[in-house]
Amino acid sequence: MPARLLNYVNGAWREPGGDTWLEVTNPATAEVLATVPLTPPAAVDEAAQLARAAFPAWRRTPATARVQYLFALKQLLEQQFEELARSITLENGKNLADARGELRRAIENVETACGIPMLMMGDFSEDVASGLDEHMVRQPVGVAAIISPFNFPGMIPFWYLPYALATGNSVIVKPSERCPITMQKVFGLLQQLGLPPGVVNLVNGGAATVDALLDHPAIAAVAFVGSTPVARHVYARASASGKRVQAQGGAKNPLVILPDADPELTTRIVTDSAFGNAGQRCLAASLAITVAGAERSFAPALAAAASRLVVGNGLDPAVQMGPVITARSRERIESLIGQGLAEGARALVDGRNARIAGCEQGYFLRPTLLAEVPRGGTTATTEIFGPVLGLLPVATLDEAIQLVNGGEYGNMACVFTSSGAAARKFRYEADAGNIGINIGVAAPMAFYPFSGWKSSFFGTLHAQGRHAVEFFTQTKVVVERWQDDWSRKF
Ligand code: NAD
Repeated sequence: MPARLLNYVNGAWREPGGDTWLEVTNPATAEVLATVPLTPPAAVDEAAQLARAAFPAWRRTPATARVQYLFALKQLLEQQFEELARSITLENGKNLADARGELRRAIENVETACGIPMLMMGDFSEDVASGLDEHMVRQPVGVAAIISPFNFPGMIPFWYLPYALATGNSVIVKPSERCPITMQKVFGLLQQLGLPPGVVNLVNGGAATVDALLDHPAIAAVAFVGSTPVARHVYARASASGKRVQAQGGAKNPLVILPDADPELTTRIVTDSAFGNAGQRCLAASLAITVAGAERSFAPALAAAASRLVVGNGLDPAVQMGPVITARSRERIESLIGQGLAEGARALVDGRNARIAGCEQGYFLRPTLLAEVPRGGTTATTEIFGPVLGLLPVATLDEAIQLVNGGEYGNMACVFTSSGAAARKFRYEADAGNIGINIGVAAPMAFYPFSGWKSSFFGTLHAQGRHAVEFFTQTKVVVERWQDDWSRKF
């Protein structure tokens, strides 16, 4: 009997009262792992009101006391590390090494947010005019909603949760309905912390649940991560109801390979970037722009590396690439590969119709490498979000940068070279918010913002670090005067 997932509201586990439940499946086996409730608006309303009721007391708890909960959470996450990593692999399909890496990133955000007493500090200026002082403090915004996608079920809520909590907000997390199990386990740990009821809440659901959060007057801030069309919707709808919003969207990440790039390192890193987590990372490389004949050596090297990747159930330690998230997703990816070929690309490795021994029911593709993808065509422009890498040859670095900057998205752009001058030119000129230099997944550490640009991001302040601290706080500036009558009184 699959587990029945619950919401966690006001310090207790509860069913949200709707009658729609979805199955959560293991994409490697198609086995049903759990059922997840789609929380109806009335239950969202209740959670939001209870979170709002918990806010004043939590806000008054000193920041030094609030972060004690995070120190304890870090210990619990370390103790449950393997169990949580396994949960990520089971519901998402990525291999255990990737799941562990994801969780490590989550914990780093908890560690960074433990510095809130300093990160939240304000400013003070004496004598801005004669006898007048002025200072600025940061105060929490109230209730924050965090809405996350399926591809990093353990990490992405942590881009926000520790900062929102430590700065004194109460929080509602809405995980992806496709991968909700890991957050269920994380909330089991949060429950052990003994936080005041209503400070952290878990609300499961899909689009209607999200819309109820976006519209709710008790919610002051919304942090969203997901696909670009939904990010646009979330940004517009939550802004329309007066909330501050950041919405991270999809991506189509280009890598530029120069002929002087280290052959072995570049091949290994590009292969991992394109095919790791079955290409379902928002920082996955999906277009490799080869410059000045670089494709002559890199195309065969990448084809060999792609063909060698061990595909299977991510729980097997030998497996390098797991399945994609659903059967529908596999169909969509296979159809986009077909479209790319019809538009003139050439398959160096075709990963469609994969049969994985022992995982016949799973949603598998093998890595796919397409050469000579036409400019402006599907493979060069569409977010495929699967293990597909297109190769596109150009003559010069300028031309490559022009191609990078002509793209719709700006989540990440990378260059592979042994020339410092070429690397500098690239990082200076490329229109993307996360840049990799001889790096294939340029994921910022927790103390840097996750800086998507263009259609990969809607908002101003990004996830993680100081940006998150600013996002979850509002500034208050005080100008004050005290008549100097002390000497007359005493
Ligand atoms: P998604 O947009 O389908 O879902 C994200 C969240 O939005 C989920 O919680 C879902 O329940 C909710 N949602 C879905 N449709 C909705 C609708 N119509 N109205 C309101 N809410 C809705 O994304 P996904 O498939 O779970 O995740 C993959 C996408 O996320 C990819 O496009 C990937 O690039 C992107 N992503 C971006 C980043 C980033 O940092 N920019 C990070 C990870 C993933």
